[in-house]
Amino acid sequence: MLIIGGGTAGLTVAARLKRKGVQGVAVLEPSAQHYYQPLWTLVGAGAADIASSVRPEADYIPKGTRWIQDRAEEVDPVRQRVLTRAGTRVTYDFLVVAPGIQLDWDKVRGLREALETPFVSSNYDFRLAPKTWEMVRAFRGGTALFTHPATPVKCAGAPQKIMYLVADHLRRSGLAGKSRVIFGSGAKTLFSVQPFARVLEGVVDRYGIQTHFGHDLVEVRAATREAVFAVMRDGRREQVTVGYDLLHVTPPQSAPDFIKRSALAHPDGPNTGWVKAHKHTLQHPDHPNVFAIGDASDLPTSRTGAAVRAEAPVLVENLVAVMEGREPTARYDGYASCPLVTGYGRMLLAEFDYEGRPAPSLPFINTFVERRDLWLLKKYGLPRLYWDWMLRGRA
Ligand code: FAD
Repeated sequence: MLIIGGGTAGLTVAARLKRKGVQGVAVLEPSAQHYYQPLWTLVGAGAADIASSVRPEADYIPKGTRWIQDRAEEVDPVRQRVLTRAGTRVTYDFLVVAPGIQLDWDKVRGLREALETPFVSSNYDFRLAPKTWEMVRAFRGGTALFTHPATPVKCAGAPQKIMYLVADHLRRSGLAGKSRVIFGSGAKTLFSVQPFARVLEGVVDRYGIQTHFGHDLVEVRAATREAVFAVMRDGRREQVTVGYDLLHVTPPQSAPDFIKRSALAHPDGPNTGWVKAHKHTLQHPDHPNVFAIGDASDLPTSRTGAAVRAEAPVLVENLVAVMEGREPTARYDGYASCPLVTGYGRMLLAEFDYEGRPAPSLPFINTFVERRDLWLLKKYGLPRLYWDWMLRGRA
């Protein structure tokens, strides 16, 4: 049993397989560190310490599970083998594909150079999230610009959450009158699921944020501090340039390149490049001994750790069934959630399924409104749930 990727999904599946007593499991994962990425939103706002978002990968590889510290370069589902960067051929009987999403920094011209300047940062990187807070603290007014690409992203709320926190910080530090906060988004709306979108529209109004949808960041000119967006107007592609004094970028994202090249991915169509997975069973439609989970899959849900938490038990139950020659019958309903932080000490929890129906899971709490106890859940409760329960295969 080979698991490609020992991130949120790979480790959760490995822990659950161990609990089921499945033997002969290996995890192919290059990184020596494991990251709790949801904390980076708070790190970028000075509300959490980056050190508490990282732990050694080795501490979370279950006992008895083999860790191959290498990177997948090619997958051949017909010969049932994976070629690694070090040149090893790993064969498998069953495969779980969980390599996450790829951050395409180079798709925005000039972005890498701009990230070297003190005025541009991104919470989407472990090294840059603390820089976001340095940048925010040094800001003395002007234009604070936040972007969201036209591609799918992990945690679609994260590009906005840092914006709300910065807007709140500006208000608290008396800088709101000297600043404009702008959201340049390649998406069509703020959030795709009502009634959460309505609450966020109220938050945007409260902070006086200017929103520009259908604006896809294509270039950053560090020397003149300008961001260039591609915009479609009357069927024509135009460019719009916005000056900035502070810029938070969410980079374009796609499936990892080795997945795009493989026979596991959609070769064309709207899901090009993503690993095919049955939306309820998570089994690959062409290769029944392959399952996919998490951000690299084509599952039409919001790419979040919360979705992985709901996907993992279904995947493991179905995988064990297939190993034993039975039909996979467990079903994933698309549950995902997004803790929408809207300011310091404020959060609402968007939980929904494939149909975009709200799917609240916390009893006795109205999660549809901004609340302080939900912020405390995000800051203290969810990290604990992640490290001690989810990655151990207990929740
Ligand atoms: P990952 O956890 O990213 O793991 C992928 C693993 O695969 C990595 O360890 C990587 O090293 C490995 N890998 C990559 N390429 C290869 C290869 N070629 N071979 C082998 N291994 C490979 N989710 C929430 O639920 N709530 C939130 O509030 C939230 N906020 C977020 C805020 C930010 C700023 C970010 C960046 C993410 C946030 N997320 C949030 C999203 C969440 O972290 C991801 O959706 C989740 O980690 C997906 O799990 P995954 O296993 O698919 O990918």
